[in-house]
Amino acid sequence: MIAQIILYNQLRSDYIYTKYTHFIYIHHTWKIKFQWENLNLNTKSKIIDYAGGKHMINTLQSKWKTAEFMCEKTFFSGLKKFAENHDVKKFVLVKPVENYVYENFLKIGKRLENIWLELEILPDTQSFFLSHEDFKEQYKKPPIMEYFYRFMRKKEDILMDGKDPEWGQWNYDKENRKFDRKHEKSWDFSLEKSDELKEAEKYYKHQLNSFQPTCRDEALQLLEYFLEHHLDDFGRLEDAMYKDDNYVHHSLLSTAINYGMLSPREVVRAVEESDTAMNNKEWFIRQILGWREYMYHFFMFYKDSIYEDNYLKHTRELPDYFWSNAEVSDMNCLSNTLKQVQSENFSHHIQRLMIIWNFSLLAGLNPHELNKWFFEYYTDAFEWVVTPNVLGMSQYADGWKLATKPYVASANYINKMSDYCKGCKYNHKEKYTDDACPYNYLYWNFVYENKETFEKWRQQFVVNNLKKIDIEKIKELKEKFIKKHS
Ligand SMILES: Cc1cc2nc3c(=O)[nH]c(=O)nc-3n(C[C@H](O)[C@H](O)[C@H](O)COP(=O)(O)OP(=O)(O)OC[C@H]3O[C@@H](n4cnc5c(N)ncnc54)[C@H](O)[C@@H]3O)c2cc1C
Ligand code: SF4
Repeated sequence: MIAQIILYNQLRSDYIYTKYTHFIYIHHTWKIKFQWENLNLNTKSKIIDYAGGKHMINTLQSKWKTAEFMCEKTFFSGLKKFAENHDVKKFVLVKPVENYVYENFLKIGKRLENIWLELEILPDTQSFFLSHEDFKEQYKKPPIMEYFYRFMRKKEDILMDGKDPEWGQWNYDKENRKFDRKHEKSWDFSLEKSDELKEAEKYYKHQLNSFQPTCRDEALQLLEYFLEHHLDDFGRLEDAMYKDDNYVHHSLLSTAINYGMLSPREVVRAVEESDTAMNNKEWFIRQILGWREYMYHFFMFYKDSIYEDNYLKHTRELPDYFWSNAEVSDMNCLSNTLKQVQSENFSHHIQRLMIIWNFSLLAGLNPHELNKWFFEYYTDAFEWVVTPNVLGMSQYADGWKLATKPYVASANYINKMSDYCKGCKYNHKEKYTDDACPYNYLYWNFVYENKETFEKWRQQFVVNNLKKIDIEKIKELKEKFIKKHS
């Protein structure tokens, strides 16, 4: 008998090989070993894994009797039990998308061999547009993202008019990235709790966000809602942040896509076929066909070296308020974002980028510890996407393999793109006074400490501005800040 193992990131029927009649989903309850000692994943992620697996197995049971859900300390113990109970001689598994899980399964395969069981790993044709083998055939090493994105647009024939981009442009940046002071919160989507979710919530004694799907049908409802209510404003307010609106017009689809409830291809096609303006279509499709896809291949390419890198040699520990639920920093933007992450295990892209990444880079926080933090806290965090976003794109720990220039900002940008500064104890215009915004003096300190890097990336104009800065005063404020925030 041959049985298929279904993994947590394979939560739709496209991952199922219907020629097999036996299926097993193991909800792993024991510690997860990773680069760091243990990975303490947030409870909401565990609930998605549990409820998602239950949904899959319940659906399979309606057609095939032998479909089983198990809560087990390890994958190996679950597989052994299942094989004994159902006379299984061989397991098949669609390749795990996370590399550390894949490596773990190679070890499990060896252990299974010892008890006369076979494990065959099948290729994953569902999680990405392009297999990593095809990527390596196309590129000797990852090109810059823009070239890769254009290649993918042509290859998949998405928003193309023959060999040219539809409407003659590859991007519509000018129409995007606005801040609208009159914006009003409008996200209003809530799923009914399924029996599977109720069971998972009871098991973990914790609640999932009501917008979070745990099966394909719910994920399709979320996609439909986004297309109908938010896509039209997606591009325009892509970079805006509001203290009373956690989602603005973002899709909240990342977790459902990463868990396999939706395929990236169907999401991109749905947006392409919608009747929204071209700037929304292009910007959204760029995020999935461009960034999401690129991050995976970038990670797979550098997976053996990326955890060794710390190019800027940042070693400061994350302040306690990143980890604990206690009253966080007195900086309005940071405090607001961290509180949201601690309660929802989610924040939108610009909060991750402009607030958390920016702060961490300017304050010299250890990029590997920050990676662990993102991995543990966010429900959409999977190794292949969190690691390149944190170690590459945001903290430059990879030595500028991914990013093409230093991307840091002072309070001026945060004030321009958000309503956080109004009502903050700090003054976003000041850089030397006691109430000066920390983003300002930390920004100038960063420019000072990384002058050569800015010059290397042809950002001489940034370095030139240092002439107008009292750098001794900036250093003094930075030292005071670091003492207070350690
Ligand atoms: C420091 C940092 C860490 C991040 N960690 C993760 C992570 O662990 N998991 C994750 O899925 N995304 C991560 N991102 C990317 C991005 O922030 C999230 O995908 C996005 O905020 C999810 O919300 P959404 O679905 O509403 O996205 P939308 O704004 O609606 O974007 C649409 C989709 O585009 C894709 N996307 C957009 N940007 C990226 C990107 N940089 N990398 C990969 N996919 C992207 C996602 O699938 C997302 O659902 C990270 C970004 C930063 C700056
Ligand atoms: S003043 Fe500074 S710390 Fe306060 S919200 Fe604005 S950017 Fe954030």
